[in-house]
Amino acid sequence: MGMLVETEDQGMLRDMLRRFVEKEMPRDRVKAWDRESRFPRDVHDKLVELGLTGLTVPEAYGGSGRNVVSTIIVIEELCARSMSVGCAYIQSVCYAGLNLTEVGSEAQKRELLPKVAENGLMFAYGFSEPDVGADIASVRTTAVRRGNEVEINGAKRFCSGAQIADYIYAIVRSGEPEARYKNLSLVLIPTDAPGLTFTPQETLGLKGGGTFDVSLDEVTVPVSNIVGGEEGWNQGWAKLAGPGLDIEKIEVAAMALGIARAAVDDAWEYAQQRVQYGKPICAIQSIRHMLAEAKTRLEACRLMTYTAARMVEEQRPATVETCMAKLFVCDTARDIVLQCQQVMGAYGYVGDFDMERYVRDILVMPILGGSSAIQRNNIANRLNLPK
Ligand SMILES: Cc1cc2nc3c(=O)[nH]c(=O)nc-3n(C[C@H](O)[C@H](O)[C@H](O)COP(=O)(O)OP(=O)(O)OC[C@H]3O[C@@H](n4cnc5c(N)ncnc54)[C@H](O)[C@@H]3O)c2cc1C
Repeated sequence: MGMLVETEDQGMLRDMLRRFVEKEMPRDRVKAWDRESRFPRDVHDKLVELGLTGLTVPEAYGGSGRNVVSTIIVIEELCARSMSVGCAYIQSVCYAGLNLTEVGSEAQKRELLPKVAENGLMFAYGFSEPDVGADIASVRTTAVRRGNEVEINGAKRFCSGAQIADYIYAIVRSGEPEARYKNLSLVLIPTDAPGLTFTPQETLGLKGGGTFDVSLDEVTVPVSNIVGGEEGWNQGWAKLAGPGLDIEKIEVAAMALGIARAAVDDAWEYAQQRVQYGKPICAIQSIRHMLAEAKTRLEACRLMTYTAARMVEEQRPATVETCMAKLFVCDTARDIVLQCQQVMGAYGYVGDFDMERYVRDILVMPILGGSSAIQRNNIANRLNLPK
């Protein structure tokens, strides 16, 4: 189903990933990673060996070009089984690979992109702060230039995968507070830099790489770690709001799509096995309708995600379509998963099955990467609806 948007190569990639997931990510292992909040680096390393972290890296830097649709296929397939593996893959291929390709300096590309493709180098996003959520331009973490160094002080919150990452890709305030949007820089902070302290935050889902409070106390990095090089100083907003942000929306949509697909597959199977009143519950009309509706909504999610991905891959303007995909897919995927949980009754709520994990993981999708309300704002604003 829904394969009309795929080329033969993309179809082969999907088949290969399904085999990979069955072999390397069996359900019992995945359950243990979630229970123990663990990231399986061996699985990430195998994805690297297969060349999959090179999917966003230009050939000149050791990758296979800018394959946005293929990247989204990998994210969907991994997240359909494990957010722990899926999120780490995103940290490598999107946070590091795509951003460096789009906005890194030549020196940063030369140094770091081959490491993304060949070693699975990872970034963590350091945008949110204790007092800053949607309004990222108001960050309070400061950066001050001292000769050839930049000193950073402040605090980041919800820095997901910070402890498995090599660098934090952090937005900091580098100019005067009143110079809104022109006072921000992006900096690469090595996660082993002195002055960093990580405190894990307890979450309902997304247990794998974990999310962290990060305090930054007189952390220094060379000026060459300013994203885009020295010319990137105070240019952080333009770099952040560039094409990378479009891709971020579809990558979150792909995560949600993967979880919803897994939930539909499991509920579809369960409804055929579970017998009540002498018949499998899939013969009950209300259950049949829930499953038919879930499949239909899933298909709409798939079409929106891959249409937006294809537009981004073809470098067509896609700001509105990516916001629509993020909004629709994340909200709908959440509804799908909750509907599938209903199909499984009590067994959708207990640890013997994976459904309870899908529920925990899906609930954050309309919140992170720009909430659904923010996407509605973006869509209305970008379509020039007068205020
Ligand atoms: C598990 C998890 C992982 C995360 N990972 C990362 C990460 O790796 N890096 C990172 O930087 N951040 C991360 N985040 C943070 C996430 O991106 C933020 O939650 C998000 O940006 C929104 O911020 P907030 O939750 O503080 O909400 P707030 O901005 O405080 O908003 C609260 C509510 O008000 C609404 N609202 C706010 N402003 C408007 C507006 N202008 N119009 C309409 N409604 C509005 C929001 O939709 C929301 O419902 C993560 C969060 C979670 C829970």
